Amino acid sequence: MGAIKRKISKLINRGFQKGQKSLLKGKKGQYLTDNKKKKGYVRLNAITYRDRINEENKILTFKDVDGSNTPVKPLRPKCEQPSYAEDYCRSICEGDDPDSSTYKLWHPQKTALMFNTEIRKHMQSNKLCIGNLVVDGCASRKWGLCWQERLKCNECDFLSSYYKLYDEVPSRKRGRKSAKPNVGFQIGIATTPIGNTGACRILNSANVIAPSISSMQKQATRVNKAKETLNELDMVKIKQSVVSSNNKIGQEIPQMINVEADSCYNNPIFKTDSTPFQGGTIVTTTIKKILGVYVGSKLCKITSELRNKVETIECPNHRGHCTSNLKPDEAIGSEGKWSEVVASSMSKDIKIANFTCDGDSRSYAGVCKGQKHKIGHLKDLRH
Ligand SMILES: [Zn+2]
Ligand SMILES: [Zn+2]
Repeated sequence: MGAIKRKISKLINRGFQKGQKSLLKGKKGQYLTDNKKKKGYVRLNAITYRDRINEENKILTFKDVDGSNTPVKPLRPKCEQPSYAEDYCRSICEGDDPDSSTYKLWHPQKTALMFNTEIRKHMQSNKLCIGNLVVDGCASRKWGLCWQERLKCNECDFLSSYYKLYDEVPSRKRGRKSAKPNVGFQIGIATTPIGNTGACRILNSANVIAPSISSMQKQATRVNKAKETLNELDMVKIKQSVVSSNNKIGQEIPQMINVEADSCYNNPIFKTDSTPFQGGTIVTTTIKKILGVYVGSKLCKITSELRNKVETIECPNHRGHCTSNLKPDEAIGSEGKWSEVVASSMSKDIKIANFTCDGDSRSYAGVCKGQKHKIGHLKDLRH
């Protein structure tokens, strides 16, 4: 055996072996069995401790019958009330489901099928058992808002197989398929001002077990990408229908239309004196009837976490996933730039004749640059 191997084997067997003498220098260790010589520390339960403890000059001792101190040193008793974790563990050991008084989302038809099938199976497997089938809550499998459940008998050891109590979204990809309610939930969240955290708070307040935030975020990324594609296709359709109806009514150039546009922000930027450190971080520029949209965002979690830790990390296009598409020092209020982006992307299908916006002439200039031809400018201060 080489020196290194020996060293490693020593490291692996570093615990004390039975009867090892090394600590006591040749003497074999033994427990003190004689009560008169008993010394050391003792931890009583709370009630006995309160009866037997004695305090003298802020020193805690136990008293013997003759009033002298015993050599045993007292330790504080353990907590009387079982902790939350102990309670939880005990309930699991005893077979109670800790979530048995919460609410879950189950498909009624699939739940009925699970119970009926398994009750029949249970009767066949054990004809003498009079136990009831209950949901094995300790072994529930969570899938966002949805659940996979199995049943168990509360008398015998009957255990059913798992049932998916939700509809799946068909996909050709390998692995677990998305549940329909989870996808629908994200579509719903995207149309409301609340986010995933807010939605979880609502569910938990109603005593419904909420999905984890990270799984919701993953689902949201997938759903919102699909929504983006869908909206782009919808805008193409709108543009085509506008051009075709222009053609029908006999316009000279059917691609020519009048549009209205504006940008809006997630927080007001016109009162920067009241919010000196927080200007707008998200801008949305739309050309109506919605023919083109531009969304600019400065929000990126990675940069905010790594700021002042790594030397050079700049949004957008840094390593990893960047959620922003504007530089942090870029002027979010430069509507001309955003209008130019939308107008140039539209220029293939649509030609703008007259452009209505607020008094901001930069937006008009941007549209002219994007469309590459002269456009009429209409100012509507109350639009
Ligand atoms: Zn049974
Ligand atoms: Zn970033």
